[in-house]
Amino acid sequence: STGRLVIIGGGFGGASAARFARINYPDVDVTLVEPYPTFVTCPYGNLILGGKRTLPQITHSYDGLRARGVNVVQDRAADIDPDARTVALESGASLQYDKLIVSPGIGLRWGAIDGYDQAATEVFPHAWMGGDGSQITNLRAQLEALPEGGVVGLAIPENPFRCPPGPYERISMIAHYLKQTNPTAKILAFDSKEGFSKQGLFEDVWAELYGDMIEWIPANQDGRIVAVDVQNKLFISEFGEEHRVDVGNVIPPQTSAAIVRDTGLANDTGWVPVNSRTFEADAARDIHVIGDATIAGPMPKSGYIANSTSKTAVSAALADLTGGSAPSDPVYFNTCYSHGGEDYGISVVAVFRATDDGFEATPDSGGLSPRGPLSELAENRRLEARYADAWYDSITRDMFS
Ligand code: FAD
Repeated sequence: STGRLVIIGGGFGGASAARFARINYPDVDVTLVEPYPTFVTCPYGNLILGGKRTLPQITHSYDGLRARGVNVVQDRAADIDPDARTVALESGASLQYDKLIVSPGIGLRWGAIDGYDQAATEVFPHAWMGGDGSQITNLRAQLEALPEGGVVGLAIPENPFRCPPGPYERISMIAHYLKQTNPTAKILAFDSKEGFSKQGLFEDVWAELYGDMIEWIPANQDGRIVAVDVQNKLFISEFGEEHRVDVGNVIPPQTSAAIVRDTGLANDTGWVPVNSRTFEADAARDIHVIGDATIAGPMPKSGYIANSTSKTAVSAALADLTGGSAPSDPVYFNTCYSHGGEDYGISVVAVFRATDDGFEATPDSGGLSPRGPLSELAENRRLEARYADAWYDSITRDMFS
């Protein structure tokens, strides 16, 4: 072989990188390290809450990657030695690499919300990482058990966080489900921000489809939740207001996954600075970091971006080993679709380029779904929902098939 590529994390960035490397660099050995036996996507998890998908429909096997010759190792990377070029695994084994790609996603900032620790996630699930699927299943089960006319609370973090439109799609999907089963229920969305992604489009959805079921409470109306009391099911605001909820979804403040913080790849922001053309980490040679763990603004922390950038990172990393050339002027793409209700999709699109010191949105590219009365836009919304479904099918094929 021409060399050894090791990839940490079998999610949007890592699985995409493994597949792309096997197809385009068949002489390179590819090893993928991932602790879970299957991958549960966060995208379309909100549709489980809406009753439009089931867990098996968003759970993906690594067998397709194995069939392509990827060595899938079910283990957790515990340490990286950039001088010896080794990855130590939790099991005690060690892997030697020539190039390393790291796409481990986010970590949750335990304690950033007082009282919100690992144990509290059983009562107030975050459902913000796929894991073994139990978080999203827990939240769905609690919605099914919501008393008639009960209150669902969401606590939404400040920027930056994984999937900027995600909380608002979630609000919509919860409302979609409750409108059918529990129409007097209330959704209180406590936000640590004063504005959010696709805000106008989401506000149209909520007004058109859900009447007064949803109340969004921004930071300047005391929307920032700073503490929770799981015993008494309370959300406690910045100014000390206590809100009792029957079901609570706490989306806590985030940082990068532990493996990049513990190994000094992240800086004091908690995220990993990288070269915008190669994704090589500023802190280490031959280690390329992609996905949500990186500092890549104005690109969003999305699965689409993790997939799009994985190809540049692989090409740049393996050009060195195979004698090819790295992409000189890479372009990165993003579309974030959201489901508002039945046959109701909206999206935001952007194209990004690398600059010498980061990334920039390309002027006059991309945009948002049109706004206007649903009576005029029903067909557009219906089509965007189908495009979203097609996107999900194609990106998961580009990761796992
Ligand atoms: P992940 O996909 O989370 O993959 C990280 C993997 O690394 C995980 O499998 C984890 O188990 C593994 N890992 C972690 N630590 C280690 C370690 N030490 N050793 C080995 N493996 C490790 N994005 C979109 O583009 N479109 C959407 O519609 C969309 N909807 C979303 C909806 C919700 C509710 C949420 C929460 C997110 C959504 N996203 C969406 C965002 C998307 O999920 C993330 O941006 C994407 O998963 C980032 O990819 P990643 O590779 O960085 O991390």
